[in-house]
Formats: sequence, structure tokens, C-alpha cells
Amino acid sequence: MVKNIYIELIGNIPELKVKELEEHIYNTFVFPVKTVDGKIQVEGAFDSTRKQYYSTKILKEMLNDLPSDGLKIIGLTPFDLCIPILTFVFGEAQLGGRIGIVSAARLKQEFYGLPANPDLLHRRLFKEMNHELGHTFGLIHCPHRDCVMYLANSILDVDSKGESFCGRCKELLEQKKEEAE
Ligand SMILES: [Zn+2]
Ligand SMILES: [Zn+2]
Repeated sequence: MVKNIYIELIGNIPELKVKELEEHIYNTFVFPVKTVDGKIQVEGAFDSTRKQYYSTKILKEMLNDLPSDGLKIIGLTPFDLCIPILTFVFGEAQLGGRIGIVSAARLKQEFYGLPANPDLLHRRLFKEMNHELGHTFGLIHCPHRDCVMYLANSILDVDSKGESFCGRCKELLEQKKEEAE
């Protein structure tokens, strides 16, 4: 069976250029990429006090409806995500699993009171999607600041790190990809 990487849209991001994202992910991981509208319910993940969504709960919802030909599924959402111990997360993924999610909320310049910049948003999305997909292939955080597996705690970290994997992470990724073939 053909194994695909799925982009699952969870909520609407109006400025999203889906074809560009697909191309980018294909170029990095070299698996066919498909985009689908997620049918999952996110209301149960909403925390009305924090006005944020628990990403782990959304991941759990995603697990209930996995495409059988989906090697990895990366959710993409406009909703601001958090986990109980952190004020926010750019994304979350199952280490060595099949699913991950990235939020565009804090990757938008508007979040910081700045004018919209769709190109910058997409560069940030590329990085964070690569990062979370890296986790699903079993990669952990990398100490190299220019590696995409570097842990970004702020938008400055996202912007200063590279969008590709360092030599060591690349090697590990290739190993994991072979195991997944
Ligand atoms: Zn990470
Ligand atoms: Zn690395």
C-alpha cells in the first residue's frame, strides 16, 4: 500500500497556501502528501479559562479517525494550543507515532501586533511542521540552534532556527524512514 503523509486541516486558516505546504513536505520527507479537511470535534479540547485548546486532547481525537494509508498525519489549526504545564505550544506530536499538530495562532505576525506577512507565516509553518513530523519519526530535540529539531520556546527561536535537519538528525531521519517504508 502507498504510504502518504496527510495534512489534516482542523479549522480554517484563510491565508493558507496548501499546495506550497504539500510541496515543501514532499521535498523534505519524500512521501506523497495529501491534504484533507479534518472531521474531528475540538470543542472538548477547549479550556474556557485559558481560552486555548489542549493539544493532547486534539491529538487523541485525531487518533479516532486515521486514514489507513496515512503513514503520518500532521494537523494544522488556527487555534491557540497549550498543554497543562506550558502557557502555549507551537505544536505537539507523538514521539515515534503517527500524529502531530501545529498551530498557526502564534506564527502569525498579527499575534504580536504586527502587520500580516503570509510568506513569513509559511516559512514558520514549514519549520514547525518539519519539527513535529520529525518527532513522529522518532527524532528528539537537537542542541544545534540552526537545526529544525531545536526546541523553539518563542517566535524568535522559530525565526532563528533553520528549516532543515542538521547532519545527525538527517541521518536518523533517513534510518527511520527506511524502517517505515
Ligand atoms: Zn519539539
Ligand atoms: Zn539536529
